[in-house]
Amino acid sequence: MAAFFKNNIFTVLLLLYTAVNCFSQDSAMAFKVKQYTLRAEKYLDKEKALQPMYSVNTNGISIYESPQTKLKGDNEFHISLDKIDDFKLLLKNLPAAQVFEIYKKGDYDKTALSLPPVKNVPSMADQIYSPGIKKLTGFKIALDAGHTAGDFEMGLVEKKCLKFKCDSVHGLKDSIAIAEGTLTFATAKLLKDKLETEGAEVIMTRPVNGITAFGVTFEDWMKTNYKTAVDSLYKAGKLTLKQKQFYLSSKANNRDKFGTIFKDSELEKRAEIINKYKPDFTIIIHYNVDETNTGWRKPADKNFNMTFVAGAFMRNDLSTPKKRFEFLRLLISDDLEKSIALSSAMVKSFEKNLNVKTASIKDAKYLISGCLPTDENGVYCRNLQLTRYILGPLVYGETLYQDNFSECVMLNKECDKTKNERVQQVAEAYFQGVLNYVKGK
Ligand SMILES: [Zn+2]
Repeated sequence: MAAFFKNNIFTVLLLLYTAVNCFSQDSAMAFKVKQYTLRAEKYLDKEKALQPMYSVNTNGISIYESPQTKLKGDNEFHISLDKIDDFKLLLKNLPAAQVFEIYKKGDYDKTALSLPPVKNVPSMADQIYSPGIKKLTGFKIALDAGHTAGDFEMGLVEKKCLKFKCDSVHGLKDSIAIAEGTLTFATAKLLKDKLETEGAEVIMTRPVNGITAFGVTFEDWMKTNYKTAVDSLYKAGKLTLKQKQFYLSSKANNRDKFGTIFKDSELEKRAEIINKYKPDFTIIIHYNVDETNTGWRKPADKNFNMTFVAGAFMRNDLSTPKKRFEFLRLLISDDLEKSIALSSAMVKSFEKNLNVKTASIKDAKYLISGCLPTDENGVYCRNLQLTRYILGPLVYGETLYQDNFSECVMLNKECDKTKNERVQQVAEAYFQGVLNYVKGK
């Protein structure tokens, strides 16, 4: 027997090594399957209704066009577990739209192998936080100031404004007129200056007040791009012939044109600018209102902060190949976890610096009906276009309620909102949130 072992010790060791190796490979595979399944259930599938459209198992991750094609085993996108890093590499090297085309054709393996290695650009992962140097040196940060209005008139067109009459009975001494786009722009501008002072490189998707992400005013965009935009929406099947005729007729007003034709394509432009820039993270800036104060003719009492990250796809949110690909991307990347960490740092800073409470899930109906809560207080998954389009970690900030009684009075002050004290406090809250996030890395 001893002689047998002596002669065959190498074989025994080899068998043992192979067994251990197989076991560890199997457990690594099982771990990955569990990790992706959990991510889908916890953050992506709002109504627990999407399982007929995707699968996660040791063969890999598959997305299906419909429950019927899943039953036939006919996937639309498939990535085996050992090819996931290739997919991430592609997303770092190429625009998401191009990666989508590669996967649609099913020849991603070949393409991934022919890619150059990822350029070693300085990123937050390489940074060491130390008190002696500028705290944000080497960071690239994108800022998206929500909406486009540079004045109240444009706020009316995009339906993102508040107008309250002077009401001495309830103590409103002056009338109120606020366009959210002017607040978000000023906040982004102030925040940009603060971040740059600490060494960060920063871009704004709309760098000039009242100018859209297309680099022109809405009015100018209407003159030069509107008709083409209507035509292309019609060609893409997003408008019927009847709708096309309506939007090209004098019956459609600017509010209709903004809401249906301009808004979505401008959001896509914002994401395009950000994704091309490849920031370490993105901050999307909005101010909220009380959803129950409908009509917004008078101030209300409620006031909360909250933040959104991607996820919470609904039953009908996988209706196009592009949307299904976005679901796949979010399922595979770790953007969601990073966004949650960033958003958590941000919402804590909002509460501390603005003295406004963080919204719990019961504080707004849409948090229950349209969002998935995360483990972090005040951070909710929500399938907003920008959270879905933008690659990399992001926070979609919704600070305070503009229609709150005291907030509207404070926000109404100063024509140039960069001089508004409350807006300055909001910019500082975002800034402190960034510093805390970076410090915690
Ligand atoms: Zn908004």
